[in-house]
Amino acid sequence: MAKKARKARKAGDANAPDEVPLRRNCGTMAVHMMLLEQFPAFRARQFKLEQDTAKRRAAPFSLAKAKVVTVRVVVNVVYHTQAQNISDAQINSQIAALNRDFAAKNPDKSKVPAPWQGLVTDAKIQFKLQKTTRTQTAVASFSQDNGVKSPATGGIAPFQPQKSLNFWVCPLGGWLLGYAQFPGGPPATDGVVINYKAFGTIGTAESPFNLGRTATHEVGHYFNLRHIWGDTEDCSGSDMVADTPNSAGPNFEKPTFPVVTCNNGPNGDMFMNYMDYVDDDTMFLFTSQQVMRMRTALEGPRSGLG
Ligand SMILES: [Zn+2]
Repeated sequence: MAKKARKARKAGDANAPDEVPLRRNCGTMAVHMMLLEQFPAFRARQFKLEQDTAKRRAAPFSLAKAKVVTVRVVVNVVYHTQAQNISDAQINSQIAALNRDFAAKNPDKSKVPAPWQGLVTDAKIQFKLQKTTRTQTAVASFSQDNGVKSPATGGIAPFQPQKSLNFWVCPLGGWLLGYAQFPGGPPATDGVVINYKAFGTIGTAESPFNLGRTATHEVGHYFNLRHIWGDTEDCSGSDMVADTPNSAGPNFEKPTFPVVTCNNGPNGDMFMNYMDYVDDDTMFLFTSQQVMRMRTALEGPRSGLG
């Protein structure tokens, strides 16, 4: 029964039985593959960024000397029902959560298993709300097709996407929590989409996604981080980050340490990393190499921010 319910949920059936806990589902890779086909220059820019990241990895790198960068944030609320027109307080709760997680000031980082405590890293990236827009839409539920980013399809265009991180907060179908665009893509769709049920820590935010970490995960993608398991489910994929263990596939809900896959014992998967699929209250860190990757994006294709 549980399996059947889960399957129904994955397929986006709103009538799926409720006894199964909600699981994280991120649409970033699907939309990424679509954009790479549409925009060949995006592929070239991603390739260049990967080369720059490799160069930076080879050179001595001191985060201690890195300056704090404050990123301007635009939040575009696109609502179908009044309840989805989330409050300013809820928006502020998300900005606060991002600032906490990206500065490694989250108190629950104490739950990172001992072998990885030394990897918890302050990204020195902070976020400041610059502007909020509110758009009522006839669209009952958006998908990961970027429709929310254009007035022609019931959404709103991003505001200065080269200078500001744009969020769209809206109803999303298929139990999708969010999706992001990697650096170097088309400006017209650049930014991060988050389900209104998983944005911020109050109001419409629903457990187990009410600690603001869907946005932490998606902003990780926006700064060029890949999923921790490398987006293949057979140990062959890589997140191109050296200090995260190779792992087989996504972990869901609240796993018990250790989860060993791909011969990565004794510590197993770093499922408590923000780039896995666990619940908000089970993810606690970015590693130093992930931060290095994000900082390289920030100095390259994302240098217009802040
Ligand atoms: Zn993701």
